Amino acid sequence: MNDQTSPIKTVPLLINGKLVESKTSTLIPVTNPANQEVIANVPCATEGEVEQAIASAKVAFETWRNTSVGDRARLMLRYQHLLKEHHDELGEIVAQETGKNLEDAKGDVWRGIEVVEHACNIASLIMVETVENVARKIDCYSITQPLGVCVGITPFNFPAMIPLWMFPMAIACGNTFVLKPSEQDPLTPTRLGELFLEAGAPDGLLQIIHGDKGVVNKLLVHKDTPAISFVGSVAAGEHIYRTGTKHLKRVQALAGAKNHMVIMPDAQKKQVINNLLGSSVGAAGQRCMAISVAVFVGDSRNWIDDVKNALSKVRPGIWNDEEAAYGPLISPQAKQRVLEFIKEGKKSGAECILDGSDCVIEGFPDGNWVGPTMFKNVTTDMSIYKEEIFGPVLVAIEVPNLEDAIELVNQNPYGNGTSIFTSSGAAARKYQHEIQVGQVGINVPVPVPLPMFSFTGWRKSFYGDQHAYGKQAIRFYTETKTVTARWFEEDIDTGVNTSINLR
Ligand code: NAD
Repeated sequence: MNDQTSPIKTVPLLINGKLVESKTSTLIPVTNPANQEVIANVPCATEGEVEQAIASAKVAFETWRNTSVGDRARLMLRYQHLLKEHHDELGEIVAQETGKNLEDAKGDVWRGIEVVEHACNIASLIMVETVENVARKIDCYSITQPLGVCVGITPFNFPAMIPLWMFPMAIACGNTFVLKPSEQDPLTPTRLGELFLEAGAPDGLLQIIHGDKGVVNKLLVHKDTPAISFVGSVAAGEHIYRTGTKHLKRVQALAGAKNHMVIMPDAQKKQVINNLLGSSVGAAGQRCMAISVAVFVGDSRNWIDDVKNALSKVRPGIWNDEEAAYGPLISPQAKQRVLEFIKEGKKSGAECILDGSDCVIEGFPDGNWVGPTMFKNVTTDMSIYKEEIFGPVLVAIEVPNLEDAIELVNQNPYGNGTSIFTSSGAAARKYQHEIQVGQVGINVPVPVPLPMFSFTGWRKSFYGDQHAYGKQAIRFYTETKTVTARWFEEDIDTGVNTSINLR
């Protein structure tokens, strides 16, 4: 942490429609992961600033909840338009602060824009059921209503997409929002906030409060924050789910992952290798849907060396190096953690057939580089199999048949994403039916659903309410009320009804 005298730009907070400088004395440096240069400082918002943010969101809610659904949709339309206009600029901000290559960074922004597009359709999305004449001249229908001040806590690895999973849907539903983005890459979410103001968002609709877990903990226990959306690691997710629900809040916590690709011997080898490269080391393996375990079924085990040879030709580089397949890890600590896993994997008896521990990129000696790494002869008791490494490390496991592959995946502590590569419809259908994982790809390596569907996860990959980010997010960000109505008519005399039956 730095003191406040640093000449580097301090990222502003967004409170009540204004970008304001925090009064905190606690700043965290934001660094370029390719060379450790400090590119900004992020403030840890004070208790008073957190209070102000929640208070202005609370005041704004009273007006916003009564704003017509058409006006809410039009705000999202203007925002979507602005985001598309600024797509390249946003992509560059993402790339510079995360180190992702530019194409991947633009993909991060694009997947967020898709959610805003979805939110433009809010009127149709919040329409609910009506039944006329549930009893004589009595109608029954549901009403969908917003909750109030919703909170979002987001991770570093998709600084555009994941904030955009949350606040556009919540706000389109009629809520107001307090976002606490990752302290490791706060510049992208701040720019998203500026563009939201430019799109005409009224004051108080969206607040952005920066900081670390101390700030999160204030949001989790506050009496005026009824709903918490979280995306991040299992450790933080469990804490946030436990604390939020203990304070009787609605919580959804999307957490970590260990994603398997099952490779059947009847799959197309070239397709398997290409897809495995992109999905295992793309974004330096820092995707919650990255493939980190390749499950070779039967004779497909003969392709292990081909995968290794292909991976050995892939190299990382800086964000605007067009030849680089991926960038550095987000921080020296993240790199160190990955190197520890590689060491542990070797110690535990797995065979490291490609080791990226000593990766050096010319001109960037201080970058958080890890080259593509691959292990074989891995067993399920090893930490490199059981735990999320979140780096460009692929572990290969061999199993004799599809049944064993399914059992292996279903026994893993995580259940975020998985894929099967096969030319057999029967094998794919069986896999889809029996696998206990949230997102399933059939000959698709990273099956992140579009927002007309929703994102989910099994076991340690998702805690709490399963209605995340897309279509089903309406269920998370609203309360449903059922109204049973007898529209008054002079000639109806129902008399005294001592039963619960309608008449
Ligand atoms: P992280 O858990 O370290 O941080 C996420 C957010 O939580 C940040 O805003 C951080 O400030 C806050 N936080 C961290 N520790 C906390 C604590 N103890 N108490 C309160 N708040 C805390 O995660 P990260 O390293 O930024 O992101 C990577 C992780 O996110 C990976 O595990 C990845 O699998 C997961 N992820 C999951 C999904 C999904 O959809 N399931 C999507 C993206 C990322």
